[in-house]
This record gives sequence, structure tokens and C-alpha cells, in this order.
Amino acid sequence: MSDAAFDLFIIGAGSGGVRAARMAAQRGARVAVAEDAALGGTCVNLGCIPKKLYSFAAHYAESFEEAHGFGWSVGASSFDWEALKANRRVEIGRLNGVYGQLLTSAGVTLLRARARVVGANQVEVGGARYRAERIVVATGGWPVAADVPGGERAISSNEIFDLARFPARLAVVGGGYIASEFASIFNGLGARVTQLYRGEQILRGFDRDIRHHVAAEMIKKGVDLRVATKVRSLEADGEGATRVVLGDGDGFSADAVLYATGRAPNTAGLGLEEAGVQLDVNGAVLVDDRYRTNVPGIYAVGDVIDRVQLTPVALAEAMALVDDLFGGAERHVDYLHIPTAVFTHPNIGTIGLSESDARGRFEKIRVYRSEFKPLRHTLSMSSERTLMKLVVDDANDRVVGLHMVGADAGETIQGFAVAMKAGATKAAFDATLGIHPTAAEEFVTMREAVASS
Ligand SMILES: Cc1cc2nc3c(=O)[nH]c(=O)nc-3n(C[C@H](O)[C@H](O)[C@H](O)COP(=O)(O)OP(=O)(O)OC[C@H]3O[C@@H](n4cnc5c(N)ncnc54)[C@H](O)[C@@H]3O)c2cc1C
Repeated sequence: MSDAAFDLFIIGAGSGGVRAARMAAQRGARVAVAEDAALGGTCVNLGCIPKKLYSFAAHYAESFEEAHGFGWSVGASSFDWEALKANRRVEIGRLNGVYGQLLTSAGVTLLRARARVVGANQVEVGGARYRAERIVVATGGWPVAADVPGGERAISSNEIFDLARFPARLAVVGGGYIASEFASIFNGLGARVTQLYRGEQILRGFDRDIRHHVAAEMIKKGVDLRVATKVRSLEADGEGATRVVLGDGDGFSADAVLYATGRAPNTAGLGLEEAGVQLDVNGAVLVDDRYRTNVPGIYAVGDVIDRVQLTPVALAEAMALVDDLFGGAERHVDYLHIPTAVFTHPNIGTIGLSESDARGRFEKIRVYRSEFKPLRHTLSMSSERTLMKLVVDDANDRVVGLHMVGADAGETIQGFAVAMKAGATKAAFDATLGIHPTAAEEFVTMREAVASS
């Protein structure tokens, strides 16, 4: 038995930290968590949850328009930014309370201050030192600042939820999922949105057809998407707004400029380097496949290890670590089958390999694709089109990639993710009855490969 006050000391009460704390405490471990901001971390306070709430808000604009085709007369609509912000705050406050309750009822000691590692078995929190058998770093990430002259005029995703005034003209810089989601959301809420991305197409890493399809849909809905476009500087425009100066010298004014060009691991000032913990060049904590750093007794999970920055991944890593430490079972996270949604308008849902990744990995693949106007839009008069795609390893008929752009794509993909994780073959998809009439049935009715090589 050690003289440590705690068996496990977790720094950060975000997705990974809270899950690890609760699970370890339920297994009888003496657990402490330090958190210097709101409980629940990025996902609850500045990420997934408020973003999805704002996405719901943005979808109403389309619904009001589409209602006419179904016989509804909807009066003049108006959007109240203050009401949305206030209602979001109430809901997030409620969730913060739930997280606090979950931790305390599990017997976890909650320390509400910034923590710093001061040795392999010691953490300093608010001037007090605590000994712990093991330390878990679950401090997440932070938006990378705008790297152009005048970059201080830009905001990050941390500030966008609470802007004092609704930005009638919003510039979004970046092409990742966070940038693309906010471009869609603010476009839906009524802002004039210009999205600037220096690469050839947004959403690098996703399937090529998906990227092009969603970009075209976002443009149809009104986002002024400019790819292969660099920002040179941000300047005062003399009228209280910001002039976004582009690489070619051209520019435009915006009431707010959102930079969403990446997130960096939250390790600055944490005492890790002094404790001998190895970090990579971006500051991410280097861990092995059991989330162990090079210093015995110090572990890390979630965004701070910079593998896949998603809440379910942080949760899975936390659970694998706790099982390993307190459950006597070594468990590994399956990083191949990570279903994910992008809440652009329309949504993206995807799991497994893109067509090009599958081509690189397997000798021969088959690709099935269907692009269509969903039933709802036959009356809604919306020109939105849905895209669905399956990628199959020809050698064993296994479905290795499944992708969709369309309404509620994330909801559709979750169920198919189970089938893929279970190793479903295309023959199993073909043998599955569709649910009619749905968009999802298309995944089990695609028969003709559009490509085979
Ligand atoms: C705008 C946005 C949208 C997102 N949308 C989605 C989505 O739709 N789906 C999805 O799966 N993921 C989404 N994510 C990603 C998701 O939020 C993260 O992957 C997840 O929160 C990571 O969990 P974590 O535990 O690693 O870190 P976090 O949740 O970031 O928690 C880290 C915690 O550590 C605390 N902390 C840091 N340093 C210290 C210290 N020294 N002392 C004490 N406490 C400290 C922080 O205050 C924070 O609360 C989104 C992220 C953003 C920014």
C-alpha cells in the first residue's frame, strides 16, 4: 500500500477525465479530479453540445421555407440571437450540474483550480500538493490562434457562441469540420457567410465525393465558399468592422472573423516537460497503446494525445485505461471504425475508409454510389440532394467504407456502424430489407458497382 492520498489523480474534467474518474471510482479507487473551468470540458461547454443546439436553430430557417410546399402558411419569421444564447446557457448550466453530481455521487474528490504536475506522483492544485499513485493528463486542446498580421481581430470557436452582437457578415477561415459546421450554422441563422480555405477542397481526409458534394450543397444554400484562397491580413475597415485582406490583395468587410484552423494540445505550463514526460513537436503527450507516457505512473487520454479529436474517442480511451489499471483487462480502442458526423447543412455521416484510402490498402475494391433527391424535397422545393456511398473490399466482400451526405446523416450512420464493426459484407447489406420510404434504405438497395478496380 502506498501513502498516496489518491490512487488516481486526473487533470481535466472534460469528456475523457470525467469518464475515467467515474469508472475508476466505481471500481473502488480513490480518485481526485482537478478542473479550472466549467465541468464537462470542451464538448459540453464550447463544442459538440452548444454547436448542435445552434445547428438545430439554423435548420428552422429551411423548415419555414419548405413548409409552404406541404400546405403550410408560415408568417414572417425572425431570429433572436439573445434568446438562443440565453437558452443555451441555461441548458449548459444544467449539464454542468449533472457532471458535478455524477462525480460527487461516485465519491470523486473535485478540486476546482488549475493543476500542475510536480513529479511522477505529485500534483499541485491551488497551492496545495497531492500525492497520487497515478496521474492521468486529460487536459484537451485549445484553438490555434490566427497566424496573420491583425490576427488578434479574429475570434475562435471558444468565442463564437457568445458574440455580443449577431454577425451579419461572418468570415470563417479554415476547411476542417469545425469551420465548415460554423459556416453552415451561421448561414442558416441568417448571416452572410464567406468561408475561406487555402486547400483545394474543404474537409481534407473525408471521401472525395463527400467533400465535393457537401461543398456544392453548402454553396447552393448560400455559403460563399472560396477554396484555394489565403488570408494575408486582418485590418480595421474604418467602419467598426474587420477587412479581410486576401492573398491576391482583394478583400471584404466582416463583422466577425472566425479562425478555425486547428487545435493544439493543452500542455503549456502543465509541468510535464519538467517531470520528464515526452511531448511531440505540437505539444501532444506521447503515449503508447496503453496510454502510458515514458514516465511510469503518468498517463494521458483524449485530445491532449492528439490522435482523433472526438468525444467518443476520448471516452473510449478513458475506459480502456481504467479497465487496464483497475479492471485487470487490457483493452484497445478500435481507431479504424470511428463513426463520425459533420453537422454541416446537410450533415455528413461516415465510417471506415474513403475510396482513395481503400484503394491504397486493398488490391481490388468495388464502389457503390447513389445520388438522389430525397422524397421530402419533392414537395419542399428544396434542391438539396443526398449522396450515399459504399466501399467494398473485393477480396472478402466486406464493406470497409460507408459515407453519406444528407439530412440526419449521423443518425443514419450510427446503426450501420454496428454492422461494419461486426464485419458486415456487401452480401449481408443486400440481404437486409430496406425500411420504406426512407433515405437510409438506399444503403441496402445499391446493386450496381459504379467502379471496380
Ligand atoms: C467547436 C467544437 C465542436 C466539436 N464538436 C464535436 C462533435 O460534434 N462531436 C465530437 O465527438 N467531438 C466534437 N468536438 C471535439 C470534442 O469536444 C473533444 O474531442 C473532447 O472534448 C475531448 O475531450 P478531452 O477530455 O480530451 O478534453 P476536453 O473536453 O477539452 O477537457 C479538458 C479539460 O481539461 C481542463 N484543463 C486543462 N488544463 C487544465 C489544468 N492545468 N488544470 C485543470 N484543468 C485543466 C479544461 O478546462 C477542460 O475542461 C468538438 C470540439 C470543438 C472545439
